[in-house]
Amino acid sequence: MNSVPPKINAAGSRLPSFIMAITMSGIAVMVFFLNPATHKIYPACQFHQLTGLNCPGCGMTRAAYALLHGEFLTALHDNALFVFALATLAVRGGWFGWNQLSGRANGEFFPAKFLWPLLVVALVFTLLRNLPAGALLSP
Ligand SMILES: [Zn+2]
Repeated sequence: MNSVPPKINAAGSRLPSFIMAITMSGIAVMVFFLNPATHKIYPACQFHQLTGLNCPGCGMTRAAYALLHGEFLTALHDNALFVFALATLAVRGGWFGWNQLSGRANGEFFPAKFLWPLLVVALVFTLLRNLPAGALLSP
């Protein structure tokens, strides 16, 4: 059986985009007001607790908090991958939204061909941040 993965935000409905925007805004408000360094409301990373190593997501909430407070360098230190991924998503989202509003044809928001390169980047980032030489990338 050949199954096709579902398309993210298939053309025709703006409801998923609206729900995503509301959800992300709510999370941003929560992170803005509840510092991850001092509030225990956020779940701890199970990978880090089990291994002592940093996963690609470690420091992501702290990076989001730093970005929301204008501390770009702190955000880069906490999780550079998150900062670059967020910037990429913002550019892609802007381009995608512009095409949608102007009636141009839009492809998929996140084509499946980007999954493998993204996985490789995440693996390399994880390796680097757990090496002594990559301590700058470790939160
Ligand atoms: Zn982690």
